[in-house]
Amino acid sequence: MDEFEMLIRAVPDFPQPGVVFRDVTPLLADAGAFARCIDALAEPWLGEGVRAVCGIESRGFIFGAALAQKLDAGFVPLRKPGKLPPPVVGIDYALEYGHDRLEVRSDALVRGERALLIDDVLATGGTLAAAQALLERLGVELVGAAVVIELEALAGRARWQGKAPLRALLRY
Ligand code: 5GP
Repeated sequence: MDEFEMLIRAVPDFPQPGVVFRDVTPLLADAGAFARCIDALAEPWLGEGVRAVCGIESRGFIFGAALAQKLDAGFVPLRKPGKLPPPVVGIDYALEYGHDRLEVRSDALVRGERALLIDDVLATGGTLAAAQALLERLGVELVGAAVVIELEALAGRARWQGKAPLRALLRY
């Protein structure tokens, strides 16, 4: 088991029965491991000309803000509905039970800007696919996506569209 894996807690039956939740907060709390995690997340994108790191609420903000600093890029939050003041653009997407929505400030990114998506966990892939569609609607050039953890059994990667790389630091 590597350093990062040892600091990710598997919590059975959270937030609902049958789900094994991967808790990244012990990794965040370890100064050295968190710094090395950000270095490892950033490494493949150095020199890619990323101008904006777009983090998905809420743990994508934590990794994304640190990653943006590393990549000398700005940080743009993609938020749950009603959190950002107008003007915003949003996208609705389906969850296993119900639906959700992501919003971004409509003037946060310019057309053709090189952007990188970041979230903590790729599960079914619905959230990341929605974020990808939202950014493409704004005309940004999506360089790729980074996640800390990919839950391979849920096959979320299949929902990622196009050729831009989707990179995961850890796979379960
Ligand atoms: P998906 O849309 O891929 O099914 O779910 C991904 C979203 O749900 C991410 O924003 C992620 O933060 C959250 N998520 C789903 N499962 C887990 C998990 O086991 N651990 C953590 N930390 N987040 C999860």
